[in-house]
Amino acid sequence: MDVRIDAERLWQRHVEMARLGGTPKGGVCRLALTDEDIKAHLLLEKWARKRGFSVALDDIGNMFIRRDGTDPDAAPVASGSHTDTQPTGGRFDGIYGVLAAFEALEAIDDAGIRTRRPLEAIVWNNEEGSRFHPGCMGSAVHAGVSTLEEMLAKTDRAGVTMGEAVKGLKAAMPDAGYRPLQSPLAAFVEAHIEQGPLLENTGNTIGIVTGMQGNRRFEVEVVGEEGHSGTTPLAGRKDAFKAAIRMARALEDHFHDPEDVLRFTIGRFDVHPGALTVVPGRVVFSIDFRHPDMEVVKRLGDGVAGVCAAHAGPCEVEVRETSGSPSVEFSGPVPEAIEASVGRRGYAAIQIYSGAGHDSRHMVHLCPSGMVFVPCEKGISHNEAENADPKDLAAGAQVIADVMLDLAERL
Ligand SMILES: [Zn+2]
Repeated sequence: MDVRIDAERLWQRHVEMARLGGTPKGGVCRLALTDEDIKAHLLLEKWARKRGFSVALDDIGNMFIRRDGTDPDAAPVASGSHTDTQPTGGRFDGIYGVLAAFEALEAIDDAGIRTRRPLEAIVWNNEEGSRFHPGCMGSAVHAGVSTLEEMLAKTDRAGVTMGEAVKGLKAAMPDAGYRPLQSPLAAFVEAHIEQGPLLENTGNTIGIVTGMQGNRRFEVEVVGEEGHSGTTPLAGRKDAFKAAIRMARALEDHFHDPEDVLRFTIGRFDVHPGALTVVPGRVVFSIDFRHPDMEVVKRLGDGVAGVCAAHAGPCEVEVRETSGSPSVEFSGPVPEAIEASVGRRGYAAIQIYSGAGHDSRHMVHLCPSGMVFVPCEKGISHNEAENADPKDLAAGAQVIADVMLDLAERL
């Protein structure tokens, strides 16, 4: 039985979704559970109802769109991603995986195929983590990796709790059914733009994702002593900025990887009090580093405090570990089904490692999982200029439809 996805329908849905939170520069600002994000959920619900698909929400606000199978007791085969974006996000990060999943359900519906297992398109709540920290919150809670109570208590900058925001979503969707957390899934597959340049550079359409790198994050606080920049002799200064710079240089060496696999970033560097004529008394900076090999992640992460202490000079330094995730390997039926679809359709494909984190990271705790990457222009993402070729988006959605159909019968 062949199922063909409708490339034009898929593209038009991207255009329609991009209006919700659309920015003047052509990007999207649709933070988790804001009015715009709730509108995106409602639009999906409208499309789902039109098709006769059912809609349910769980306690953390994940949304499940379901096309029933012939066996009502069978666990569903699911696909999906997220509708939320960064404040200056693009038109494809997240929403592509949701729309590809929904297109797969529709294409299979159009073909009139009854699957044994139900098929589901899932919207994971708060993936980006820019309104409520941490990210991948919905999938983590659903998979039992994070606790519901702790996450519902998280607040945004205005003091609104995640719990209140989820209540807002539920109130906007009074007809949605209820889905318990950690409900069984037979398999999960997520489509996403690559957010890197490898597929484009190698002329490939599909990336078969083999895994996701592990990471550790730190906050480093360097404390010196404020002083008058005109009168304090250099010899007696406790300049927190200079100490922090020495640490940053030494960390650059510590994390140096000639093979360019390791990713090390100091994304935040705050100098206090930040005045022109005051010797800086305090600096706080962040460390984010990632590597596929957990031994490397452990060894280099464990070395951070020592490197910082060795370069503190007259200042004090405190290193706090703020978060971390183990690396993930995708193997078994999902990547196998992706491989089979790619071969059958003749798409140019390579195996690829995910540099970014995605909801699938948590799904491996529930069921066999995997991911499909499609190229995005110049690898640009988390940026209003994010762009993708409709043909590539269609190819990825076709693979999702093939994989869901295959696994719904085979597993
Ligand atoms: Zn994403």
